[in-house]
Amino acid sequence: MQAAEFDAIVLGAGINGSGIARDLALRGLRVALIERHDIAHGASSNNTGMIHGGIRYLRYDVATTKESCVDAGYIERIAPHLLTRIPFVFPIFSDEPMGRLLLEGAETFFEAYDHFQPLKGGKKHCRLTKEEVLHLEPGLRHDVIGGVTLDEWGVDAFRLTLLNAIDAHEHGADVRTYNELVDFLRDADGRVVGVKVFDRQQKVVSELRAPVTINATGAWGPRVTAKLGIPYRLRQGKGVHIVYSHRVSNVGLIIKGVDGRQMFFLPHQNHTVVGTTDDDYYSDLDAPVVLEDEVKYILQAARHVFPSIDKHRPSYTYVGVRPTLFGWGKNEDALSREHAFLDHENDGAAGLISIMGGKLASYRILAEEVSDIVAKRLGNTAKCVTHEQPLPGAANIDGIKTLSELALKRRFGSRADHATVSSKSSTVCICEDVSHDSIRYSRDNELSKRLLDMCKRTGLGMGACGGMHCLHAASAAFRGGETHSLKRRLVELKDTMDSRFKARRTLLFGANLQTEELSRAKHFLSGGLHHFMAWANADEKATGVAGVSPAPAESFLTRPNE
Ligand SMILES: Cc1cc2nc3c(=O)[nH]c(=O)nc-3n(C[C@H](O)[C@H](O)[C@H](O)COP(=O)(O)OP(=O)(O)OC[C@H]3O[C@@H](n4cnc5c(N)ncnc54)[C@H](O)[C@@H]3O)c2cc1C
Repeated sequence: MQAAEFDAIVLGAGINGSGIARDLALRGLRVALIERHDIAHGASSNNTGMIHGGIRYLRYDVATTKESCVDAGYIERIAPHLLTRIPFVFPIFSDEPMGRLLLEGAETFFEAYDHFQPLKGGKKHCRLTKEEVLHLEPGLRHDVIGGVTLDEWGVDAFRLTLLNAIDAHEHGADVRTYNELVDFLRDADGRVVGVKVFDRQQKVVSELRAPVTINATGAWGPRVTAKLGIPYRLRQGKGVHIVYSHRVSNVGLIIKGVDGRQMFFLPHQNHTVVGTTDDDYYSDLDAPVVLEDEVKYILQAARHVFPSIDKHRPSYTYVGVRPTLFGWGKNEDALSREHAFLDHENDGAAGLISIMGGKLASYRILAEEVSDIVAKRLGNTAKCVTHEQPLPGAANIDGIKTLSELALKRRFGSRADHATVSSKSSTVCICEDVSHDSIRYSRDNELSKRLLDMCKRTGLGMGACGGMHCLHAASAAFRGGETHSLKRRLVELKDTMDSRFKARRTLLFGANLQTEELSRAKHFLSGGLHHFMAWANADEKATGVAGVSPAPAESFLTRPNE
């Protein structure tokens, strides 16, 4: 087996691995980025999606708040189209012990944060009367006594990660998704000199060699180094969110669970996100499940301040596992959100560095710090440019004139023009406004390999219908003229439908569950029939034996329930 040679191998294409791969590639180094699923399969696309300015550090570590705000400002500069301003209200209610005093305290605290807001293009806080709070958000409990505003940024965390990986790729990195680490390669001194990986799609094993390997596999990190017999500790924390497919509130709300834990209720792009829990997690990292109890806990917190929440139908849930730094004897919320690097030279495995902890919001600075270490070891003197070089599609974004342009530009930025081949490109997903063209563009240009990969890239199936109206038409658009086997297409369709169903399952009861099950069966069977007909006709062309007339994919769009 011929091993491919690199300067650095990065394991895990979450935000940290993708950010590191980008930084190193921009410094001119030869990089391989290895991910066992799709990009951002782990915590990096299953988080609250906020680029916080580090307000929680203000009480004890002002320097970190400043650093977080500076870096949030950089992210805003390099990916403006992925960011949405989220104005928050911190409401205080009449049953809050010492409510008035709390209001004063909150204002003083947010006032201190105002000094850092300009660093990330944020606005100063405002103190609001009861009437002003209710005017802004009529859905709140009416015994609110006042509130304070806070300005933060929401981000499309999946696409932020993806754009880092794409930029790395466009600067020469070899990005291999659906490739899993099998083992490390070591020399006679025990030094890690590369990895052996298994391509889960092509079913082949290959070897990659490099003087430095970075373990950026997040919560899975200790499992990866266990292959070398090197244990290290993290406090893996499970976090659950509930998503509504539309905006339920006008502003973001800082809410509390029954146990006092702080959560968010926020408009995020055109959805509403509520969460998150944070519980020590000891179960299977590959299959975290959203529990009915967790859903009830989150909804209870939302209902406590926003009683009308029950008038809305939640669409789906998601779950992620944080790679939080280890600390003993502390509540999950009190654990540090800082990052740290572990040089395994001290464990007899020189050449391997593990990344621990971190936040979405601090990924860029983490990547810069670790890339500085790697570059120094390799004798590379190039400087980091990730704070000033726009991510793909982030430069020269023109004004948005129409609503469909908004959906496209929010996803692809200035590359939206490439994703619009025809002005008449038909819509595949009505809920999230996804066109045939954007599916094809993303398929060909965004490191995607499966139909399932389209969901987070384009919004496909992420809206109210959960894919029940569009996945089948999308599978035809995704595979286009390719002559993939019928079996493969159906497996892809089923995987994608199953994945969306899994995200909705905990929210479905009784008749709703039955309807959804029937819908799934119908959709899958009609998808199968359509693919069979298309396949039979392609076969007819090849063999001259009569096939059957395929229904156009769009026909399922115009009559989705028939
Ligand atoms: C519920 C929740 C809410 C959060 N909210 C926020 C927030 O609002 N703002 C914020 O700044 N931060 C937030 N965070 C934290 C942030 O999301 C994480 O710190 C960050 O995403 C971690 O990124 P990572 O790249 O280290 O790990 P991950 O994103 O988990 O990436 C690790 C990758 O490694 C891959 N992998 C694992 N094993 C292997 C292997 N053997 N071979 C190859 N690849 C492998 C995985 O498939 C995965 O894609 C939140 C986290 C959670 C869970």
